[in-house]
Amino acid sequence: MKALVLERVGELSLRDIDLPQAMGPDDVRIRLHTVGVCGSDVHYYTHGHIGDFVVNEPMVLGHEAAGTVTEVGTNVRHLKAGDRVCMEPGIPDPLSRASRLGLYNVDPAVRFWATPPVHGVLCPETVHPAGFTYKLPDNVSFAEGAMVEPFAVGMQAATRARITPGDTAVVTGCGTIGIMVALAALAGGCSRVLISDLSETKLKLAETYDGITGINLRERNLAEAVDEATEGWGADIVFECSGAAAAVRDLFKVVRPGGTVVVVGLPPGPVPVDLAAACFRECRIETVFRYANVFDRALALIAAGKVDLKPLVSGTYVFDQSIAAFERAAEGRPEDVKLQIILDGEGN
Ligand code: ZN
Repeated sequence: MKALVLERVGELSLRDIDLPQAMGPDDVRIRLHTVGVCGSDVHYYTHGHIGDFVVNEPMVLGHEAAGTVTEVGTNVRHLKAGDRVCMEPGIPDPLSRASRLGLYNVDPAVRFWATPPVHGVLCPETVHPAGFTYKLPDNVSFAEGAMVEPFAVGMQAATRARITPGDTAVVTGCGTIGIMVALAALAGGCSRVLISDLSETKLKLAETYDGITGINLRERNLAEAVDEATEGWGADIVFECSGAAAAVRDLFKVVRPGGTVVVVGLPPGPVPVDLAAACFRECRIETVFRYANVFDRALALIAAGKVDLKPLVSGTYVFDQSIAAFERAAEGRPEDVKLQIILDGEGN
């Protein structure tokens, strides 16, 4: 089957590759329609590794996917051929200790698409457990379906934050994930989100959503801006989405006493943290790794019109132009939130 293969760092090809296609009784076969280009895909392309995950042999990229069911296993009841679906890319071992604790996203045995050595789905067809495959409501497009995966990270962050209606949130980092977190925080009950970044272009894009106000760190310091917006009290919740050492260092200067800090961004290595500032405020610290049990809720919010991800699709490429899509993604244009690749011209 033809697929977008990362051969080694810096080298992509569109070529035939053998991929496992055996169906089990609990699986569905899916014809891929839309696959988003994720920062992690791009990082494997440009760096060849993320932390301990190293690309040692050719790997198919892509894990933000939507498509159409073409065949269902004998045990599958909730899906049928023709259903439009999106897929959760991480398959845990359901009997693992982590899964039994309800923490399947941190199951060390999880097999996650396009994370070495597991192939992704930038290919025409895949087989996936039906339990991790979600039917798209009729008013949710394939493009939106393929955005559920990155939005799920925002959903996980909002869930971890335990938002109280009316909370003020700060999001540090206005990249794709920062925007996803901001939208999930608003949908989850925050009255407003202040989002910080060094890029005016990114902030302007985020500010097209009601409830989001940008803080340009080239013009003003985060602590001052938050102080001013909250009359010196601080934010109820601070979501760190930049992974930048400077943002991590200042996190506890902007959270209110008794507030919550949610760490979403992954710094590339150890970074200093002002623990004393955290203690003085007795704040709660939460961390986020991917997501668990949020895909159906994400789809419900999108279908209800409470979250609109459509404006975040910055560019669409056909499958044959996948390499061009990755080259553009690797440029990191500030106006690009999400690039997507269409594998199947039918429907939307
Ligand atoms: Zn992703």
